[in-house]
Amino acid sequence: MSLPKAFVDEIRARVPLSDVVGKRVKLTRAGREYKACCPFHGEKTPSFTVNDQKGFYHCFGCGAHGDVVGFVMNHDNMSFMDAIEHLAGLAGMQVPKPTVAEQKKFQRQMSLYDLMEHAAKWYEAQLHAPQNKKILEYLVARGLSVETIKSFRLGFAPGEDVLLKQSLQKAGYSVEAILEAGLFRESQRTKGELYPFFRGRVMFPVQDLQGRVVAFGGRVLPESHGGPPDKSAPK
Ligand SMILES: [Zn+2]
Repeated sequence: MSLPKAFVDEIRARVPLSDVVGKRVKLTRAGREYKACCPFHGEKTPSFTVNDQKGFYHCFGCGAHGDVVGFVMNHDNMSFMDAIEHLAGLAGMQVPKPTVAEQKKFQRQMSLYDLMEHAAKWYEAQLHAPQNKKILEYLVARGLSVETIKSFRLGFAPGEDVLLKQSLQKAGYSVEAILEAGLFRESQRTKGELYPFFRGRVMFPVQDLQGRVVAFGGRVLPESHGGPPDKSAPK
């Protein structure tokens, strides 16, 4: 959940970095800075520095670098919010509670990530299913190894059917969530009838920095492999 930037800035201003680091690592003063043996890599001569004025630590050995929040996250293996809670406690500050609307938005976002992950797994399973063997063979013939296909989590979206929708609904996702994820569209002709947005396509999930699936790309297959008719092909 996001916090007001001013709140995080206030924590940084109130909690000296050297206090927090000094509780975990033996610090030695060196001019305006402190030095220590780096807690993030093994070393015998100190190359880890802490600068309270700048509010940053930096290791010349392994490149570890960050502020007080980052230090607690990395050193104590905490999430951002847990580190904030811990530091706010030291600063005598109360972490602002998210409003009900913010919590709802957060939960909706989280469940959207889960839904996209469910869909990614489903597309992957389709590509490796026996009935779609020729799609997998087509990709391999195009020079992709099975390892590459697996590591990029390529999948296959079959034709018009609604099996993915059924799978998502069985997992507890509402029609609204399925539509919001953009994987299905509502039919213009029949109200309430959904059709899959991606049909007869090789699917590749787009992931964010945390590895969460946030979108899909779909590559059209040739007509011989379930893609749309090629209008330029001679009759
Ligand atoms: Zn280091």
